[in-house]
Parts: sequence; structure tokens; C-alpha cells
Amino acid sequence: MKNIVIIILMLCCSTVLYAADSSVVETPLVVDAQIDSVATQSNSIYPMSLERKEKLTSYSLFNNIWRFTDFIISIIILFLILFTGLSAKLRTYAEKIPNKFFALWGFIVLFLALEYILLLPFHVYRSFLVEGEFGFMNQTFIEWFSEDLLGLGINMLLMIVPIFFLYKLIKATKYWWLKFTIGAIPFIVIMIVLAPIFISPLFNDFIDLENKELKSEIHSLAEKAGIEGSDIFQVNTSKQSSKINAYVTGMFNSKRIVLTDNLINHFTTNEIKFVMGHEMGHYVMNHIWKTLIVIIIVLALALWLTGLTIQKFIDRFKSRLKFDSLSDHASLPLLIIYMSFIMFMFNPVINSLSRYHEHQSDIYGMEVTDVDGEEAASAFDKLSVYNLADPNPHPFIVFWFHSHPSLQDRMEFVRQYRK
Ligand SMILES: [Zn+2]
Repeated sequence: MKNIVIIILMLCCSTVLYAADSSVVETPLVVDAQIDSVATQSNSIYPMSLERKEKLTSYSLFNNIWRFTDFIISIIILFLILFTGLSAKLRTYAEKIPNKFFALWGFIVLFLALEYILLLPFHVYRSFLVEGEFGFMNQTFIEWFSEDLLGLGINMLLMIVPIFFLYKLIKATKYWWLKFTIGAIPFIVIMIVLAPIFISPLFNDFIDLENKELKSEIHSLAEKAGIEGSDIFQVNTSKQSSKINAYVTGMFNSKRIVLTDNLINHFTTNEIKFVMGHEMGHYVMNHIWKTLIVIIIVLALALWLTGLTIQKFIDRFKSRLKFDSLSDHASLPLLIIYMSFIMFMFNPVINSLSRYHEHQSDIYGMEVTDVDGEEAASAFDKLSVYNLADPNPHPFIVFWFHSHPSLQDRMEFVRQYRK
């Protein structure tokens, strides 16, 4: 289960070009591969073999089932922590720390640790074993686990800020949901600004584009888009996974376009140009800010809806929960359950906006480059094949879960665009 902050941050920071359930490559990547020669190289992954097509089908089916399984498991574990009285016990234990602020922090650390341990078998299965089985995993278990613990540690450090203010406001005012949302705006903006500078580099190396020819191509593209001064980075995500991706992140001075080394190694120059044009579209059209506005509205609504009924729930089950008020820190897991359910229901709203942005960026990518429809389409086709992403998922899955239009729709669109 992603906690509230991470849900918000993930939503905000991931104006990612491609859906999360995208990528995979079976062989270790050749770092020095010549971009222009990739298409002509004999390659076991692209174009897709029948065997790989079967793999794609089973990976997509697995992901569709897992979306729901993961959600249900996470909720069950939070209910367990609540209804066994464990949450209240952890709170009482943390309150041995005399300082109230540090007592709350202690509770958050204990709660996150407990939740992490209970979810660990499922998390190892999904994020390590299954990724390995489908050929995406490039890390040993120890490497993967150390990075995962680092993520947990960062979470433990940062969660205190919003949760401290959240409970302070719950105790002080009945408009806590509104005041918290307003206060969350600068916090989220600061996190979006700082994450690419201080957090992402803890996991990967962000360097200047290595390929000089590509760099100058992209530089002239950026000039055309009117963003000459923008930062363009290459990131070694092949260290973790063979999935292919590109994204725009950051705000103000930390705003940047990031290309993964996997993308650079497997795409032709023209395919990369189209991807860059698409990313520049996000950049130029300020999609991060627009997404942030919607996230803030959804956050306010979700907190307001939570506030309407959560105290009644606590009153009904207080003898088992071992706390009787929302203002008790032990209610944190319940708040997360409420927020998860409501955010889940708001998925279609946020994803519709995202799909609209993606479509706008696809148009921008075609406009700003001279790449022909077939080349743009082959970029999407490669994404599908390398990442084992279903090019044509069920429309309901797209509507509810996908932040990007289906790859097939995007391919059809770019193919007919110049005509
Ligand atoms: Zn995009």
C-alpha cells in the first residue's frame, strides 16, 4: 500500500510517457550500442516473436489481476493492523517518548515498518520474482532489497511533515481537510522541486546525454520548442530493470527531461526524436502544473469525504480499534484506507486528464519533429514489445487505470497524422 504522500507524489511526479505496466528486455543491455544500427541488428526481442507475444499476453493478464489483488491485500493488512489493536499498541509504545512531535514520528516509523514487513512477501513476489521471471530484473535480491529499504527510510523521514500538520489541524478545526489541502500545495511543490535533485540520484546516475550526435539533434529540437536552456538527462535505469521509459519531472530550476539508457540503446535517432518531442510537449504545455491543480482538488474532495464518515466508523468499532477519535494518531491506518478507496474511485478522473495530456504531447511530438508516422509508430511498437505492454487493453482497464492512451490508438493516430 502506498501511503498518502507517496500516492500524491507519484501522481504528481510521474508525468511519465508510458504506462507503468510497460517494459522488459531479456538480455543485459549493450551500453555502447549504436542507436542507428539497432533497427537493423538481429535482435531476439524486436520485432516480436510468437514466443514473446505469448509472454506479453500473460504479463498483461497478470498485471490486470494484480492491480486488484494488490489493492485488496494492502487494505486487508491495514484492517488487520487496526482491528487487532496493533495500531493503538504502537501509538502507546511510541508515546513513551516524552516529546509529542517525536512520539508521533516514532509511531509513524513503527507503523510503516510493521506495514512493510507484513506486505514484504507480496512485494518480493510482485516486484522482484515476477519481474525476474519476465526478464526485466537486472538486480540481485540484495541489491533490490537494499534499494527498497532506502525507499522505506526516505518515506519514514518525510511522512512526519504532512502527518504532523494533518493531526494538528484535525484537533484544531472542523475545516482540517481544507486547511490541510492548502498547506499541502507548497509541500508537494517543494517535493517535486527537490525530488529530482536529492532523491532520484540516490537510486540512479543522471548524466548529460553521452551520444554527441543525438545531443545536437535534441538541442536543435529544444531550440525549435523554445526551451533551449532546458536540462536533458540520461539515466542508467538499466541498473534496475530493462524496461524502457522517458519522462518529464521537476519544477522551476529542477525541471528536466529524462531519457533512460534502455531507450537510448534500443531506439533509432528518429524514434528518440519523436519521444523527445513528446516530452518537450509536456514541458512546454506545463502539464505538471495542470496535473498538480487537479490533484489538489481531488485531495480536498477525498479528505472532505473521509471527514464526513470516518468518525462514525470509529465510534462503531472503537472497542476493537482501542481508540475513539480521529484525532488519535492510531487512526492513521484507517485514514490511509479511506484515502486509498476514495483515490481509487478518482482514478478515472486523474487518468482521463493524463491521457488527454499524453495525446496533446503526441501531437506536439509530431509537430515539432519531421519524423514520419511510421517511425513514430515504431517507437510505440517497440515500447509494447520491450516492455511487454498490451498494445490494446480492454477499454475499461484503460479508462480506470491507464495514464496513457492505448499504444494501438497512439500508433494509429501518428500513422494517419501527416495525411
Ligand atoms: Zn507523455
